[in-house]
Amino acid sequence: MPFDLSSRLAERRAAHLYRQRPLLTSPQDVHISVDGQPLLAFCSNDYLGLANHPEIAEAMVEGVRRWGVGGGASHLVIGHSEAHHQLEEALAALTGRPRVLLMSSGYTANLGAITALVGQGDTVLQDRLNHASLLDAGLLSGARFSRYLHNDVASLEKRLAKATGNTLVVTDGVFSMDGDLADLPALCAAARQRDAWVMVDDAHGFGCLGATGAGIVEQYGLGLDDVQVLVGTLGKAFGTAGAFIAGSEELIETLIQFARPYIYTTSQPPAVAWATLKSLQLLRDESWRREHLARLIARFRAGASALGLQLMDSATPIQPLLVGDSARAMQLSAGLRERGILVTAIRPPTVPQGTARLRVTLSAAHSEADIDRLLEALQQTLSYLPEIEA
Ligand code: PMP
Repeated sequence: MPFDLSSRLAERRAAHLYRQRPLLTSPQDVHISVDGQPLLAFCSNDYLGLANHPEIAEAMVEGVRRWGVGGGASHLVIGHSEAHHQLEEALAALTGRPRVLLMSSGYTANLGAITALVGQGDTVLQDRLNHASLLDAGLLSGARFSRYLHNDVASLEKRLAKATGNTLVVTDGVFSMDGDLADLPALCAAARQRDAWVMVDDAHGFGCLGATGAGIVEQYGLGLDDVQVLVGTLGKAFGTAGAFIAGSEELIETLIQFARPYIYTTSQPPAVAWATLKSLQLLRDESWRREHLARLIARFRAGASALGLQLMDSATPIQPLLVGDSARAMQLSAGLRERGILVTAIRPPTVPQGTARLRVTLSAAHSEADIDRLLEALQQTLSYLPEIEA
């Protein structure tokens, strides 16, 4: 029977993989309400606690008064405003790269960059744990597409040896479901030997990593010769929405000419760009946010390992607890919710089979007492679901 959607949905339910959207009935924050229930949340990507910052909200309102509500058109028609332009310049200064192109989302930034740079006859090599948008872009590009083992330079080198045409090596900076960092110095060295380019999607590193918050390339001290294409998103640590691609003058001109997800979409509302300029200012002026976050990460890791929980190799605000079985991950998440804590269970196909996890994320808006409340709730939930322990 064609379009048998009910069987498809039933199968997903039976496999404990059915996805549901919690309804947020408060502003985005760490203390939220979901369907009217007050909860302490550990699942947003608002790592610096800026998504509901009063000064950024005020900047957005001012942006609306000044620039109106909508982008109105694509960038190439008449949607590219002075607000977008100023943000591009500020992001170029932050990343230390000649030029930046603002995109409406990280998903389309990845789609745009990869499909504009490689096509038939070329090769795209990706870490097997890369974000879905990168993998989708690789498929869409028409290039030969191969995935190397996670962060494994030998596995990349094998593929580089067989690569044809222009070759693009693509990796997440911080892996979104694991929290670990790409081994960029080694990956870049391997790519350079074969004249391949490297593209890094640092959606989860921007704002959090590096001395000034410029992300993983700043942390490793890598330049334009190492990472030719750098993607950052604005909906995570920066607290607003959208994304950008940073690189050489020629790269950005090429994307403006050839990146279809840039050319054929309405520009981001200019007020969002205006608000993001304020986020950048706060990133510069309030380095305490990153310092506080580092203390929270250390506190959570110490407490979770004392409870015998299986942490992953992460020093970032993404601190997943590996559970394995999808049903168990759901039970643990439900147990936490009964105690007023919201942590999302992440299951296949988002993560590999048998590696369901609770994706705990920390934010500078959390207090140390919030971390202690999470640890206590984990301990209580585990005491009646002991088989979940690692
Ligand atoms: N890259 C990574 C690594 C991500 O985690 C995400 C979003 N979760 C994206 C890209 C997409 O970014 P956006 O939400 O701005 O579309």
